[in-house]
Amino acid sequence: VIGIEILTIGTEIVGGTIPDTNFLFLARGLAARGLRCRWHTAVPDDRETLAAALQTALGRATVIVTSGGLGPTPDDITRKVVATVLKRQLVLREDVVQLLQDRFARTGRAAPPNIQAQALVPFGCDLIENELGSAPGLRLQTEEGRILYALPGVPHELERMAERIVLPEISSLIAGTRIAERNLRTVGVPESVLSERLAGLAPPGGAIAFLPHLGHVDVRLSVEGQTHANDAILDRLTAEATERIGDAVYGKGSEELEEVVGGALMERGWHIAVAESLTGGALGARIVRVPGASRYYLGDVVAYDNGAKTSILGVPEAWIRDHGAVSGPVAEAMAHGVRERFAADVGVSTTGIAGPDGGSEDKPVGLVYFGICWPGGRISVRRQLLGERSQVIARSVTTALDLVRRVAGGLTVT
Ligand code: ATP
Ligand code: MG
Repeated sequence: VIGIEILTIGTEIVGGTIPDTNFLFLARGLAARGLRCRWHTAVPDDRETLAAALQTALGRATVIVTSGGLGPTPDDITRKVVATVLKRQLVLREDVVQLLQDRFARTGRAAPPNIQAQALVPFGCDLIENELGSAPGLRLQTEEGRILYALPGVPHELERMAERIVLPEISSLIAGTRIAERNLRTVGVPESVLSERLAGLAPPGGAIAFLPHLGHVDVRLSVEGQTHANDAILDRLTAEATERIGDAVYGKGSEELEEVVGGALMERGWHIAVAESLTGGALGARIVRVPGASRYYLGDVVAYDNGAKTSILGVPEAWIRDHGAVSGPVAEAMAHGVRERFAADVGVSTTGIAGPDGGSEDKPVGLVYFGICWPGGRISVRRQLLGERSQVIARSVTTALDLVRRVAGGLTVT
């Protein structure tokens, strides 16, 4: 079995001071080549801990990539620990001394004495050119045939070396099967329901993963096999999954719901206006993330206060008094009002209780009404959304966008 391990070295990494972007870069680079990182280990700049982690990695992985600790300072221990663990001599490499001296010469400064330390390299390493920094990377092969790459920790140096040399090498080293992936984006159906609908669908060597976000879930379909066969299998899998999930699928890849909504509105030649209470402008803000939204988006009224709902949107005062501001009739009147005032084709509204306070027995926190008024009708929709304030707001925005997607796409709205 083939296994790739990424070992990131740095006290700042395990301490949570800086995010481990080197790992992300390497893992995504592998994924983009149809390969998967099997183990990810992070250790502080500590000899014993690194030695133990390296020992473990060498015992299980066929390819190991390390990040960090190649510099000249005493906390840079990678070269020494690799030498110790593999029982190899540290040798002073004249070619590395030369590289470092040349680099200093180009900056017009004299090389400091500690470049000698940086030129001490475990016996039998190949150098990987570092175009953007001083420490070259190292490649070595163990007696058991495992390959170890040691790269510097500075992100732009590591990224350049990985992209140009290390990732292509690993890719050609590991011949044969590849992982191919597709992503389906869904909205309005919980993860558990999706998983039931797709039960038993994954083919041998295939997998289905669910990645929940606020109000929407990504369904990641993947297969592992010969590159040329993967596409056909994924085509079939994607078609079947789409069929089973139904119209909750709004897009694929990294398509955003607001983009899909914009596309659907333009297809109809419809313009939209928005009336917001609990979302406080977040719905409009999401719509205008899409470049060119002015082709279908007319504007937003944030009517947080009841008086504003009446005076600006024309919601009858009596309705607010009789049903409450958080109610179906008020949501519908808000949508109707904003549609009239902007002379839009579609008006959509949000009104609800974001919390943490303001809930009651019959109107708990997370209760949200949406109104939508379009050439085909006008309705209100009631949803009980979960989460704390910011989550209720985010889910409300997604739900409102989905309503628009549904009316513009001629889908059922409930
Ligand atoms: P240098 O020659 O600069 O000392 P190095 O190979 O010794 O390079 P480190 O000292 O471990 O690398 O890290 C250099 C800098 O790179 C750190 O200060 C940190 O900001 C950044 N860095 C290190 N590891 C990571 C990582 N895994 N992800 C993101 N940034 C990192
Ligand atoms: Mg360093």
